[in-house]
Amino acid sequence: MGSAALAAAGMLSADAAAQEQKPYPTKDDRSASAPGPGNKPLDDQNPDSFFPPPSDAGGVQTFKYPFGLSHKRMQEGGWSREVTIRELAVSKSIAGVDMRLTAGGIRELHWHTAAEWAIMLYGNARITGLDAEGKSFVADITEGDLWYFPTGIPHSIQGLKPDGCEFLLVFDDGNFSEYETVLLTDWMAHTPHDVLSKNFGVSQQALDKMPRREKFIFQAEVPGPLEADQKAAAGSLGMSTQDFAFRVAQQPISKRTKGGEVRIIDSSKFKISTTIAAAIVTVHPGGIRELHWHPNADEWQYYISGAGRMTVFATGGRARTMDFQAGDVGYIQKTLPHYVENTGATDLKFLEMFKSSSYQDLALSEWLTHTPPELVIAHLGIDRATLEAMPKDEPVVMPK
Ligand code: MN
Ligand code: MN
Repeated sequence: MGSAALAAAGMLSADAAAQEQKPYPTKDDRSASAPGPGNKPLDDQNPDSFFPPPSDAGGVQTFKYPFGLSHKRMQEGGWSREVTIRELAVSKSIAGVDMRLTAGGIRELHWHTAAEWAIMLYGNARITGLDAEGKSFVADITEGDLWYFPTGIPHSIQGLKPDGCEFLLVFDDGNFSEYETVLLTDWMAHTPHDVLSKNFGVSQQALDKMPRREKFIFQAEVPGPLEADQKAAAGSLGMSTQDFAFRVAQQPISKRTKGGEVRIIDSSKFKISTTIAAAIVTVHPGGIRELHWHPNADEWQYYISGAGRMTVFATGGRARTMDFQAGDVGYIQKTLPHYVENTGATDLKFLEMFKSSSYQDLALSEWLTHTPPELVIAHLGIDRATLEAMPKDEPVVMPK
């Protein structure tokens, strides 16, 4: 059967059939030209969509969404924007929120049905929480630090001096929304004041100044010394023995090669983070986060700095390559193979996030070098020396 006949019989994708019949156009080819309307800055940021590599073939669900396209909810004291399943349809298991708070700006006391993992991207904040025994937790968080609040655990975030903070929140539910959380002020505004009076054992008059609608984010004074807040919140119960925060900088790097480094942080290190596992990856210029897959969970990515490209191989002859910059979200469904290549002149830094208590990955080179060699050679038509040259110990970032 020829490729055209295979395509007609639905056994070969149309793209693959076309590829077999004719050489793939070069960039300068008239076939690759786009004389009609276009958005040059956007095309320039997405070269692998404008001119896909010949190994790409259609039918792969979009796996990129830039925070820059999200609606920004503006308030006095800061702002918030989110990438959820509503923005990025493939992202079923995880949603993300990017939030800015000024010095003194408060993300008000609240909780939600999803668990919250966070990383401080800029500046400083004070976080508060209440553990399941009713004991208080208050801590100051700086750039690179993490926190985690389980489902239903109430918490707040407040920007500190000199310039507040910006942070990324990661929720273990793609359907999560910052607009649908239990807020203290919203709850009070929707409870009859005679009931509140009875509940607290205070006069209704004393409650007159309570807000009539939610605050969500609002400006307040920068809080005083941490120890004073911790002591006042703990009261006679004492402080929580649980640590909702995690200092990444105090942990050793999990793996370092010439190509870059990775820090893996899951519940084996960050005990309370039982539903979210993370890898913080740095790829130096020219390096690549090697071909691999995750057997146990979808991967949600956030690009912190640099520029890169990723191909997701989606089975059945389908593959798509997309380009990523700082502030972009990427997503890979469970078990699908992928790599991330640094395409820029500076370090590429990104987060790999998983809805799981443990981090798991398998690398292509690890697989091929731990399978009977004759079997691998019979598949790939490579010689033994090539197979033997492959890394055997999962470098994570190449070159070794
Ligand atoms: Mn929250
Ligand atoms: Mn991955």
